[in-house]
Amino acid sequence: MNTKLVKAYGTEASDKPLKLIEIKRRDLLQHDIEMEILYCGICHSDLHQIKNDFGMSAYPMVPGHEIVGKITRIGNQVTDFKVGDFVAVGCIVDSCHECENCKEGEEQFCNSFPTFSFNSPDKYLGGMTFGGFSQTYVCEDKYVLHMPEFKDLAAAAPLLCAGITVYSPLKHWGAGIGKKVGILGIGGLGHVAIKIAKAMGAEVIVFTTSTAKVRDAKRLGADHAILSSDEGQMKTYAGQLHFIIDTVSAQHDVNTYLNLLRRDGSLVLVGLPPKPLEVGAFNVVMGRKSFSGSNIGGIRETQEMLDFCAKHNITADIELIKVKDVNEAFERLEKGDVKYRFVIDMASLPK
Ligand code: NAP
Ligand code: ZN
Ligand code: ZN
Repeated sequence: MNTKLVKAYGTEASDKPLKLIEIKRRDLLQHDIEMEILYCGICHSDLHQIKNDFGMSAYPMVPGHEIVGKITRIGNQVTDFKVGDFVAVGCIVDSCHECENCKEGEEQFCNSFPTFSFNSPDKYLGGMTFGGFSQTYVCEDKYVLHMPEFKDLAAAAPLLCAGITVYSPLKHWGAGIGKKVGILGIGGLGHVAIKIAKAMGAEVIVFTTSTAKVRDAKRLGADHAILSSDEGQMKTYAGQLHFIIDTVSAQHDVNTYLNLLRRDGSLVLVGLPPKPLEVGAFNVVMGRKSFSGSNIGGIRETQEMLDFCAKHNITADIELIKVKDVNEAFERLEKGDVKYRFVIDMASLPK
């Protein structure tokens, strides 16, 4: 298969910084689109993968899965897109198309495992896929999203992972009018969850480890913000919440939060702490509570989420950076020092 060399920012090992490298992109197949990448968000999953937190990282690795761009070429069977369209790619760039989950539009749960936009076996070129910290992306049109009108396209990039990862469970578990929704952690995912849950009509209560974020939470739209170390305030929410979305990236005690659920309430894990979490039996049997999880969302739902966010004027609060500053951005992300998502301006990539 013919390939094209393009510039990218990647790393050769878990303890090495990212630097300018060259990667191959495949030449267009009939259903492929090629986009010039304009912006790419930085998710905590990129950081987990770079550091090999899950023990399944392959190097060299080019992270990035919140990708917004402009179409530069299309395959001869592509009908739904044209050159010049603003488009996006999120976490999923291929799947089997045939299993029950793919047929129902839940490609993230493909029985043969979806191909992710980076660090995933590449069916076409061999090796692993390379992500959005690069000049271009090439994939099948099925996995490409139309970007609706956003005032700030860069601030919309984080919706491709942070947005769908919280939209999908909020919708699945029925966040809306009359529901009290708890959000744990005000990071990239958490701050977008506040905005989406409010737009769905829910009452939003956020739990954070940071006093500065308690102050900022109201500006983001939360109805109430609680410092999780404040036992007195935590007690006032015991048995109150219908649903909690847990975005915390590190080890933490979920039992404290299961106690805040009402009867039949659910705590849904979307954060990916690398080590197992412990759930006390009495914290779920009492009140018939659920401890569950959710993984991004399918392609159809991702398009629905983008349209919902455009309609409700929802984007992320971002710090737009140049690609040369990406290593510093990862250091700051690890310390929780970002309000609230880094996005790389890919025009800063040396050509
Ligand atoms: P992030 O911006 O770093 O936010 C994580 C937040 O978790 C932090 O801002 C902090 O919130 C809280 N936190 C961190 N360490 C903590 C600790 N030790 N104890 C309590 N709270 C802590 O990360 P993100 O990009 O939002 O991603 C969050 C997690 O979701 C990551 O693990 C990521 O890999 C995962 N993820 C999963 C999916 C999925 O499909 N399931 C998709 C995307 C990301 P406060 O400062 O407010 O306390
Ligand atoms: Zn499948
Ligand atoms: Zn992500």
